Amino acid sequence: MKEVTVHDKVFELYISAEKIQARVDEIGKAISEEFRGRNPLFVSILNGSFVFTADIMRACEMDCEVSFVKLSSYQGTETTGKIKTLIGLDSNIAGREVIILEDIVDTGNTLTHFLEILDTYDPKSVTLVSLLTKPEVLKDRVKVDQIGFEIPNKFVVGYGLDYDGLARNLKDIYQLKGG
Ligand code: 5GP
Repeated sequence: MKEVTVHDKVFELYISAEKIQARVDEIGKAISEEFRGRNPLFVSILNGSFVFTADIMRACEMDCEVSFVKLSSYQGTETTGKIKTLIGLDSNIAGREVIILEDIVDTGNTLTHFLEILDTYDPKSVTLVSLLTKPEVLKDRVKVDQIGFEIPNKFVVGYGLDYDGLARNLKDIYQLKGG
């Protein structure tokens, strides 16, 4: 089994680049069939979603636009654990069909908070797409419309996902070994 060491931890191959690409192509096709002729706006949540976003956009055969947003959990120098600010969203959301692109939905807290903020910008519709979800943790807190892979509650890296800043550049997805 292929393994990588990131900082102090060992990860093993979990989803190959080929499998990811095949699933991304399927999702891109489904989105294209649903949204063709409607010029949806992809809203990609940074940092982790940048790789998924690039691949999803190229798997879509229709007019579409993209915007990147970043959620910051800091206010001043204090970490509150609560998401406080949103960078990058502007008024061009109003009346648009928005497709949110997430790398992974874990507890759903990030997405729930983001959806509340997004709502104040008055989108016409909101569709949620996440490459990964952890159903054991998420339960039915948020309904994700398109899911790439449902995975167990184990930490993963690669394909945009990091462990303390590293491993975003790995082509495959790796799962923490053991733990
Ligand atoms: P949530 O708010 O849904 O609990 O967490 C969402 C965020 O937590 C993701 O966007 C991601 O940044 C981080 N996260 C959750 N699970 C994992 C994981 O297994 N690996 C990595 N690299 N990040 C994760």
